[in-house]
Amino acid sequence: MRKKEYVFTPGPVPISRKILKIGSKQLPYFRTDEFSKVVFECKKYLLELVNAPKHSEVVFMTSSGTGAMEASIINLLSNKDKAIVINGGSFGERFVEICNFHNIFNHNIKIEKDEDINFEALKKLEANSFLVNAHETTIGRLYNLKKIGDFCKENNLLNIVDAISAFVSDKIDMQEQNIDVLITSSNKGLALPPALGIVVLNPNALKKLEKSSSFYFDFSSYLKDIKRGQTPFTPAISIILQLQKRLKELKKIGIKKENKRVEKLAKYFRENIRDLPFEFYVKDMPNAMTTLTPKDGKFASKIIEDFKIKYNITLTPSGGELKDKVIRVSHMGDMNKRYINVLLKALKDYYKKG
Ligand SMILES: *Cc1c(COP(=O)(O)O)cnc(C)c1O
Repeated sequence: MRKKEYVFTPGPVPISRKILKIGSKQLPYFRTDEFSKVVFECKKYLLELVNAPKHSEVVFMTSSGTGAMEASIINLLSNKDKAIVINGGSFGERFVEICNFHNIFNHNIKIEKDEDINFEALKKLEANSFLVNAHETTIGRLYNLKKIGDFCKENNLLNIVDAISAFVSDKIDMQEQNIDVLITSSNKGLALPPALGIVVLNPNALKKLEKSSSFYFDFSSYLKDIKRGQTPFTPAISIILQLQKRLKELKKIGIKKENKRVEKLAKYFRENIRDLPFEFYVKDMPNAMTTLTPKDGKFASKIIEDFKIKYNITLTPSGGELKDKVIRVSHMGDMNKRYINVLLKALKDYYKKG
């Protein structure tokens, strides 16, 4: 038998057996009342879990997270709008690229890993919308969503939050954090296979919907169809069935408890690597992930390669120039202390032998 692989990548993440089992079944035909019920249930639970205000709506589309990012931008912003984009890594940069591609004016606010967002300076900019990745997954930084939400409210900015790698592991509360548009996808914190893009729109966002420049990603057709529990095009059927199960589980556990559970795992990992030659790469770490920088001069990419070969453990570097500096260790998905212990044991073994 193949040795079990341990996956600490921030997407895909370990998926539970129960969820995998659903994915192994023959797919049902979906233009039925029965499938509509599944979609309605997904919508209901999702709105509850993110604490969306009354009359919020959900779009389920067949795409990875980037599709949901682009769809949100082209349905909510036009070339009359001006956006502020917090760019603290590759996913922030992606927002900038999408805006530029669609000729949407944007203030590209590049910030260093531990630099605070300078709200005083942003106040002076002419803008009506704000784009941010709740957790910038390339470096493992969590932004202060409450502060951002308050700032957007005070300054009348449509707050568009990519919570793809924050939702489920870290706190997302659309009302408390004043989020107008919440973007997520199936294969990060939700711990499902990839291909389902999800956007939650509060009434503010629904009022601002623009005529979409895309046929496939036109929110108005999704919003029309979801009234009867359907999507305009073939949905990712098996993933929607898995989502139903996953949301039901989360509802039962309680989202706050689930946040806490992942927080504890993250803390457990961080406390147990104290004696190893690493330092944390950023100061504002999410529950979802830990980023480490080797202190002993070893290249992160070399360590990652060694772990794959020696222990069948998959870690991942950061992109570009950080490739040799940063190791990303995800805590998302079907993980527990025992799973993390496998990595801790391997780390201790690796450094014992020098
Ligand atoms: C993974 C991720 C995305 C989407 O990437 P895809 O390759 O399209 O799945 C977007 N934003 C964040 C913060 C992510 O972690």
